[in-house]
Amino acid sequence: MRLWVEAVRGLIFPVGRPPRPWVRLVAPFCARCAEPFARHSPGNFLCRNCAGRRWALEKVRAAYRAVGTVREVILRFKYEREYSLRPWLGRWMRDGFRQYYAEEKWDALVPVPLFRARRKERGFNQSAEIAEWLGHEVGIRVEEGLARVRETPPQARLRRSERLRNLRGALALAPGFDPKGRRLLLCDDVFTTGATADACARILKQNGAVEVAALTVARG
Ligand SMILES: [Zn+2]
Repeated sequence: MRLWVEAVRGLIFPVGRPPRPWVRLVAPFCARCAEPFARHSPGNFLCRNCAGRRWALEKVRAAYRAVGTVREVILRFKYEREYSLRPWLGRWMRDGFRQYYAEEKWDALVPVPLFRARRKERGFNQSAEIAEWLGHEVGIRVEEGLARVRETPPQARLRRSERLRNLRGALALAPGFDPKGRRLLLCDDVFTTGATADACARILKQNGAVEVAALTVARG
């Protein structure tokens, strides 16, 4: 285990070929946010965080945990712009889609948006890129239905309550996008507290979406 983690950290894996193994997200986990539970309990259970919270998001699923190689590949794609890693993220996303969402009908994949300045600096929106790969594979349209209208400090450095405050008024429907009566699947690279994904879902629901769920490459 330690060896390949070191290998990844040492940046010795050849471009586009991350080393195995990757860690799957396995039950038992929270029925809403997929937070893993230490012990199995029968039935549909919500974690403590979800039990006391009103979500707009129906549920979130991912095939993998955001640890080891998967986490490393996500970070490299996002921050080091290793675009050649896109198919790996796409495949991991497809694994999650097949496992959790393939039986349902989805009208569109909606990437979690990136603020324009950050998109420009990064060169691409990682969520949109991953959604495009998946959409092509599973035959579902990708619609960039959301936009960031206000710059927000990176969520990673904030606590949950701060994250929610940070997002207020930061997101809006993209011009011309109508979620009314539609079932939408939000796509992102990684899910941690869910604050961003839920803020996205809230806007889509407020504007008439009948269902919004989320799929990410990995669960933090
Ligand atoms: Zn939960």
